[in-house]
Amino acid sequence: MASPIGHAAVGVAVASVVARATGTESSAPLWIGAIVASGIPDLDFVFPLLGFDRRYHRNASHSLFLIGAAIALGFVIARHAAPEFTMGVLLAWTASLISHPLLDVFTTGPTLGKIGWGIPLFWPVSRRRFFVTRSIVGDRPEGVTLDDTLREMQDDARRIVPICAAVVLLTFLLR
Ligand SMILES: [Zn+2]
Repeated sequence: MASPIGHAAVGVAVASVVARATGTESSAPLWIGAIVASGIPDLDFVFPLLGFDRRYHRNASHSLFLIGAAIALGFVIARHAAPEFTMGVLLAWTASLISHPLLDVFTTGPTLGKIGWGIPLFWPVSRRRFFVTRSIVGDRPEGVTLDDTLREMQDDARRIVPICAAVVLLTFLLR
């Protein structure tokens, strides 16, 4: 389970790679949009805060099918309502959004996986929840308190951010 810092770092890194590949200029909307997109699936955390079961978190919003549908809808809306955003920017945001559930899979180890916190990538077609036997951030236990989240953010800043920063730097050097 990655923290917001881990998601933002990976979101910016993949957006940077896509921007480089599509010849998209660096801009504030590109980077801010990438950070926002990287966190969108976790907006489902509001359900538990509203009194719903904690299991509403990491559910439908982490399905590649639903995310794909949201992206398709987002493209249609953006083409009409915000034509100033180029295809390169939209693709960079798309990559950032898709990175979210995939990073969650690779940061969810057996401890979380066994208690049902894997990622339902193919919901509603399949209810299987994906996780890995060797998470890239170690086998984290369930984060419940604010302290847990802060600890995970620190850990992600140490383990994930430097790699992502290197990727971003490389894409700039290769321009
Ligand atoms: Zn998530």
